[in-house]
Amino acid sequence: MSGPVPTAEPPSPAAPAGSPALPGEFELIRRYFAPLASGFPGAFGLRDDAALIAPSAGHELVMTADALIDGVHFLPDDPPDLVARKALRVNLSDLAAKGARPRAYLLVACFPRAVTEPWIASFARGLTKDQREFAIHLAGGDTCVTPGPLTIAITAIGEVTEGAMLRRSGAKPGHELWVTGTLGDGALGLAVRRNMLSGAGPKDRKYFTERYRLPQPRVALGHMLVGAASAALDVSDGLVQDLGHICAASRVGAVIEAASLPLSPPARRVLEREPARLADVLGGGDDYEILFTAPPALAPTIADFGAASGVAVARIGRIVAGADVAVTDAAGQPISVARKGFTHL
Ligand code: ADP
Ligand code: MG
Repeated sequence: MSGPVPTAEPPSPAAPAGSPALPGEFELIRRYFAPLASGFPGAFGLRDDAALIAPSAGHELVMTADALIDGVHFLPDDPPDLVARKALRVNLSDLAAKGARPRAYLLVACFPRAVTEPWIASFARGLTKDQREFAIHLAGGDTCVTPGPLTIAITAIGEVTEGAMLRRSGAKPGHELWVTGTLGDGALGLAVRRNMLSGAGPKDRKYFTERYRLPQPRVALGHMLVGAASAALDVSDGLVQDLGHICAASRVGAVIEAASLPLSPPARRVLEREPARLADVLGGGDDYEILFTAPPALAPTIADFGAASGVAVARIGRIVAGADVAVTDAAGQPISVARKGFTHL
């Protein structure tokens, strides 16, 4: 459907005058994307119009899509391999939260004219790395040139046992509320990148930046939660807002105990200096952790899953009757939450 990728002109900051032209669209696909599809027979080496995928016996396919836009979800000077890995990982995080095992993904790459071949080469290397780490393959996509910012849209496909996909809708009053990993690091990383976090030392700034640039999808743990979690989603736009989605789908309320929120040592240091940064933990976004609920009797099982997958799991509150998400301090008193999460519109 798309025309050939034009050569890299007019000159721009990303493609200085005299920098080598990009190869044509088909050569670009052959050189950089086809190798990523070599382990997936249904992709036909990216030499057909479409790919084929069948679920394993007794399984269903799980599909999810997420786009990353330059200046919105990453910053222009973020390294291309990390942009690629983040684009894939934000999708893997959705699959993880649904208990799905990754199978394949489709990649729509919209490059501005100024993109360079080394940028694309590094981008493809990032994908190679994460395909290995998460056992997923490229199955197809589209390549085009855009007058707008660089945009990477990925559709990821996973699978679960029939009927077993974790949903947002099964939380019941009395169930406990759990979250994986640590919260707030990604939001603090974005603050570092925007020069809006003062006081943190260089090591902590580097830690936050890495957490912002490279989420850790909890794929193995998510799969273990099938049959145990009563509701689950991935926290990407802010804990309070995302918990609100579970509450709406399950027709329940929830209480978060602020003192139980899992923080990395660098985040703990920030909050000790600047307690108001709790807002980044409660509503900052870019966490890509799994938020889930489970009956209290399953607490030891969930702790075992955490140990087996090497991912920390923390109990951060409980589901109650009602419709509201409340946050309480160590004394059980309500904390008002100004910023619940991120929305585009
Ligand atoms: P069409 O014009 O019929 O849409 P394309 O020329 O866009 O076909 O694509 C040819 C093949 O290359 C298809 O198999 C498509 O899935 C694959 N493809 C194109 N761009 C990408 C990409 N960025 N990543 C993965 N596969 C791609
Ligand atoms: Mg196409």
